[in-house]
Amino acid sequence: MAVKKFRRIMAANRGEIAIRIFRACTELGIGTVAIYSEQDRLSLHRYKADEAYLVGKGKGPIDAYLDYEEIVELARRKEVDAIHPGYGFLAENAEFAEACERAGIAFIGPTAQIMRDLGDKVAGREVAQQAGVPLVPGTEKPVQTEEEALLFARNAGYPIIIKASAGGGGRGMRVVRNQTELKEGLRSAASEAEASFGNAAVFLERYIENPKHIEVQLLGDQHGNLVHFYERDCSIQRRHQKVIEVAPALSLTGDQRDQVCDYALAIGNAVGYSNAGTVEFLMDGDGKFYFIEVNPRIQVEHTVTELVTMRNLVQAQIMVAAGCKLSDPEIGISSQQDIELRGAAIQCRITTEDPANNFAPDFGTLKVYRSAAGLGVRLDAGSAYAGAEITPHYDSMLVKVSTFGRDLVQASRTMNRALQEFRIRGVKTNIGFLENVITHPEFLASNCNTSFLDNHPEVFE
Ligand code: ADP
Repeated sequence: MAVKKFRRIMAANRGEIAIRIFRACTELGIGTVAIYSEQDRLSLHRYKADEAYLVGKGKGPIDAYLDYEEIVELARRKEVDAIHPGYGFLAENAEFAEACERAGIAFIGPTAQIMRDLGDKVAGREVAQQAGVPLVPGTEKPVQTEEEALLFARNAGYPIIIKASAGGGGRGMRVVRNQTELKEGLRSAASEAEASFGNAAVFLERYIENPKHIEVQLLGDQHGNLVHFYERDCSIQRRHQKVIEVAPALSLTGDQRDQVCDYALAIGNAVGYSNAGTVEFLMDGDGKFYFIEVNPRIQVEHTVTELVTMRNLVQAQIMVAAGCKLSDPEIGISSQQDIELRGAAIQCRITTEDPANNFAPDFGTLKVYRSAAGLGVRLDAGSAYAGAEITPHYDSMLVKVSTFGRDLVQASRTMNRALQEFRIRGVKTNIGFLENVITHPEFLASNCNTSFLDNHPEVFE
């Protein structure tokens, strides 16, 4: 198949990921188109593109990025060839992918069918089960009645985690340790799921105590070829949300690494996965893996995988969407062996939150902003500059700092030095907290599990 050449790509997103996409395009000689909401009039992503257009007039800061009919129509009028959805907003919306295709615009992501097969946690579990990959014991379908939930609990035992089928970002989950908590949790989880995701469906899983979160990066082309880019350890979490990510997962043995990557490929192959995606697992204290979900999109923490494999995942996404085979020279992956793994990388998310006050978001003008630089430091920022207004409209991630070294200790030293170089005044940040974690002996020994922050209140300063 002749490879289509994209001339203009739109990022249907904002902030750091929009800028990340524009950088990938510019290096490939592809023109860039931004969209921005009224609230993002002064946001940097708007100025980093060749062209930028206001969307969602009068619709509010989030809804502006969700109105896919308006966005696709704009893209069509501006002769955009492909749309990259980034993460969040429309990234996992199958109808958006279909609307792009209908308008003759390539969607840079998996097909709508793959998103439907995997996008929902319950659907993803079914695929994993059929592919022979172990799952956390759980209900096969969303639970409809309290009796069903109690029956599952009698068989599986406590603790149990209640999860929203459509959940994401650590929201809509409840850990319950007895019958009273289960009954109460079902009600509150369902109403939170309805409010957050417009879908009240919840299901139950056995709660694994103190697991590590290990996830595998996949990339498939549209010709049936699929490879992995090894794994990340995202065990440093606060309220089930990732805070610091490491690649590769340094506590794994070679056999464990092969095992988890094989599981991920089995799931990807079962649905003919194309483009970039991540398969997430929990690993218990005995080193056993359990599938939890697939994220059919680029993730926030893709940076650490890029650093240890020396591959540009966003550019690979674009090539694949343009019809390239993995083995074409533009991508250059003839087999799994072509993907090398070298060194260690850490990503910290600097947020405008106050760790001393339960991570409450802080707002105001960034009076001073000086960022780190130097060997081994990569920065991905949205609107981080002196004079920028930090508003409550969007999430509080200010800049992602990723560092690279020969091993974790080196990467941590570089991270510590980079975090100390930042000068941010006018709003509170979590920098001190991040420094405490990445210099902690347990972190340096790759010993952390998802309970690390609960068990180490001293890192909150
Ligand atoms: P989300 O889509 O909201 O990120 P995930 O299903 O990916 O939700 O889970 C996020 C985190 O929640 C996991 O990394 C883990 O820390 C915790 N978690 C999820 N399921 C379980 C489980 N069955 N047992 C223990 N912890 C879990």
